[in-house]
Parts: sequence; C-alpha cells; structure tokens
Amino acid sequence: MDALEAFRRETRAWLDANCPAEMRTPVSGDDDICWGGRNFVFKSEAQKVWLARMAERGWTVPGWPKAYGGGGLSHEEVKVLKEEMRAIGARSPLESFGIWMLGPALLAFGSEEQKQEHLPRIARGEIRWCQGYSEPNAGSDLASLQTRAEDAGDHFVVTGSKIWTSYADKADMIFCLVRTDFSAPKHLGISFLLFDMTWPGVSTKPILLISGKSPFCETFFDGVKVPKANLVGTLNRGWDIAKYLLTHEREMIGGGGGGLLGGRSPGQVAAQEIGTDGEGKLADAFLRADVARAEVDALAFAATMARYKDEAASGGKGVGDRSAVLKYYGTELNKRRHELLMRTAGHEGLEWEGARSNDGERPRGWLRTKANSIEGGTSEVMLDIVAKRLLQLPNA
Ligand SMILES: Cc1cc2nc3c(=O)[nH]c(=O)nc-3n(C[C@H](O)[C@H](O)[C@H](O)COP(=O)(O)OP(=O)(O)OC[C@H]3O[C@@H](n4cnc5c(N)ncnc54)[C@H](O)[C@@H]3O)c2cc1C
Repeated sequence: MDALEAFRRETRAWLDANCPAEMRTPVSGDDDICWGGRNFVFKSEAQKVWLARMAERGWTVPGWPKAYGGGGLSHEEVKVLKEEMRAIGARSPLESFGIWMLGPALLAFGSEEQKQEHLPRIARGEIRWCQGYSEPNAGSDLASLQTRAEDAGDHFVVTGSKIWTSYADKADMIFCLVRTDFSAPKHLGISFLLFDMTWPGVSTKPILLISGKSPFCETFFDGVKVPKANLVGTLNRGWDIAKYLLTHEREMIGGGGGGLLGGRSPGQVAAQEIGTDGEGKLADAFLRADVARAEVDALAFAATMARYKDEAASGGKGVGDRSAVLKYYGTELNKRRHELLMRTAGHEGLEWEGARSNDGERPRGWLRTKANSIEGGTSEVMLDIVAKRLLQLPNA
C-alpha cells in the first residue's frame, strides 16, 4: 500500500470516529456556518467539538505549515482529506476570511512576527476578520481608494470609510487598504494594514437589504491609531498584496458553487420534483436539455478547476490570474444552476416564508447567486483580466 493510500485509510477512520453525526448534514444557511471569532456563539455542542477536533489536527487549514497552526499536508493529501470529508458529507469545521484571504497573503508577504501572531488564531477560529477594500467611489476601480493613513511617527492615523464590508459588525479585526502616498500614481501609494475593530475611531453601520438581513456594512475610520508594526509588506506596495489576496478570494468564490438545495444537483432536484419517464429521463424535455447542459458544464468546470490547482501546486504557487476564469465561470454557472432550480419549482419557488419552503431557501439561494458575480470583482472585470492578462489581447 502506498503512503497516500495509507493516509486515506487513516483519515477515513479518524473522520469516522471524530466527525459528529450533526456535522454530517448540509448547512442550512449563513446562520448555520461556523465563522469563529471572539464573540461567536456556537449553534450546538457538535459544532464546537468539530471545530476543536479539526483545529487540533491543523485540519481547518490542512495545507498550511504546522508551525502556523496548519496540518502541513501536501497538495495530494489535502485532496484526499477533502474527498473523504465529502464522502461522509462532513461540513467544513470553519469558514473565514482569514482562511480564504488573509492567511495566504500573510504566508506570502507577512513578517515572521505577523505570521506567528495571526495565523494560528485564524486556524483555531479565534479571530474573525473582515475585508476593508471597497469604498463608495472605489469598487471595480479599487486603486482609486481614498481612505488615508497619515504617518504619525510610530503609528499611522487612519481616516476614511469603506462600504460593503461583509460582516464588519461581527468581525474582530480588519485587513484594510489605505492610501499612504497621495502624490504617487494611484497603484503605488497604497498600503496594507491590519487592525482591531474595537479600537477607538472604528465604527460600523449595517446595510439593511430587502431580505431583512444585513450581511455587510458601511465601515468608518475616524483617526484610528494603528501601530506601524501592523503594516504588512512594504509601505506603498500594498497593491501587490491586495491583488494576490484577490486571486485567493476569487478562487474561493468561483469554487463555492456547492450550496445547492441540500447538496443536490438541479438534475436530482428536478427528477424528484417533476418526475421521470419510463426510461428514467426527466419528464420535461426542455428542462432536461438545459439541466444536462448545466451538469456537463459543471463537470467540465470541476475538471478545469482541479487541473488549475494541480498545476499551481506543482509550481509551488497559487492559481494567479487564472482565478479570474474560475470566478467568472464558477459564478455564472452557479447562476444558471439556481435558475434551473427556480424553473423546477414553478410558482412555488417564490415562496419566501414558512416552514414548507424552509423560509424561502430556494429563492433566497437564487438571489444570493446574483451577488456572487459582483463580490470579489464583477464578471465584466473578470473578463477584462482574462482578455488582458491571460489572452494578452490588446486594449480596445
Ligand atoms: C455580497 C457582496 C459582498 C461584498 N463584500 C465585500 C467585502 O467584504 N469587502 C469589500 O471591500 N467589498 C465587498 N464587496 C464589494 C465588491 O467588491 C464590489 O461590489 C465590486 O468590486 C464592484 O464594485 P462596485 O459595487 O463599486 O461596482 P462598480 O465598480 O461601480 O461597477 C458597476 C458596474 O459597472 C461595471 N464596470 C465597472 N468597471 C468596468 C470596466 N472596467 N469594464 C466593464 N464593466 C465595468 C461593473 O461590472 C458593474 O456592472 C461585496 C459585494 C457584494 C455584492
């Protein structure tokens, strides 16, 4: 038996013994996810136990070095762990902006002290991070950001505002883009700071959506004192870190299309709800054609994503600009798949409240996919990156 097969058996046995039954069911929504953080209230003992057990093994971030709270697993071992978790329907023990975004950026650009301070806390789910990038006049054109950090000797004084800061009101800390040089070309005057959301001068105002929820905030900084030790990388070169972090964010969003109803594909849902003919084919021929196209595209997308990740791992780096392909295709495909779920349900799919529809799980999921192709960079901007940086097409 080769080493990877031995690892698989060991992993399977460990997961079987340690993953609580309750953690082998699909999450029912945002409120059911373990986000961690100083003020996080676990939904159940099982959720808490599952996080603690996985964090102890370093398996909340299995590919990170052990020295920073990770599992130290190889790319192949991480794949095996994920496959074995999927096989028993195990939930991710922890979701966080620290894992998806800040962690990879700190591993690449952080000082040793910053890595030691922040990475293990992210891995254990002790600190919840939010992302302070977008501003009222800097979204797609992010480099136009105006939040300023003035040099005040041993610290910066940060003043300005951010918008669409997801979960800022629940986060403990923020990774934040600030302008530190106003005379340089816009990409060259930006720095990357880390600071605490409880520090004087930081405030948040949740943005209420028509759904009644507030997944993001306006975030204000009024003379926030941030020690210079909290600068990541080189002063005025934060744009390099910002872009690198975005490639990880985009890879994560593009690959995050699994949140379909109870983990079932549109084909499975349609077969159950609309029924099949004598040969086991979907009874509605038009829907059948569209479902088949989406399922084939989903398989092709999964294979492409796996190939990109394998090629990146063998080169010892992230997927880079190819993250724009994953973000664009993954989110557009996910929109198509949710459209199919809505078509399958007919008018009942519009039910917004009530136990029967699990409080409108289907239309809420469908609406959420519209935001996927905006957050982390819009589809238009992704196509622009693909055209310029991957296909090397000339500017129009
Ligand atoms: C659910 C959600 C969560 C978010 N969370 C965060 C967060 O945590 N932190 C954070 O900092 N930000 C967050 N954002 C903000 C997000 O990054 C921005 O919304 C996004 O970058 C687009 O910027 P904008 O909203 O200012 O739109 P704009 O940039 O004003 O774009 C408006 C329209 O113009 C198009 N457009 C703009 N420029 C071009 C171009 N060059 N070529 C072609 N078309 C173009 C866009 O595609 C879009 O359709 C979140 C957004 C969403 C929806």
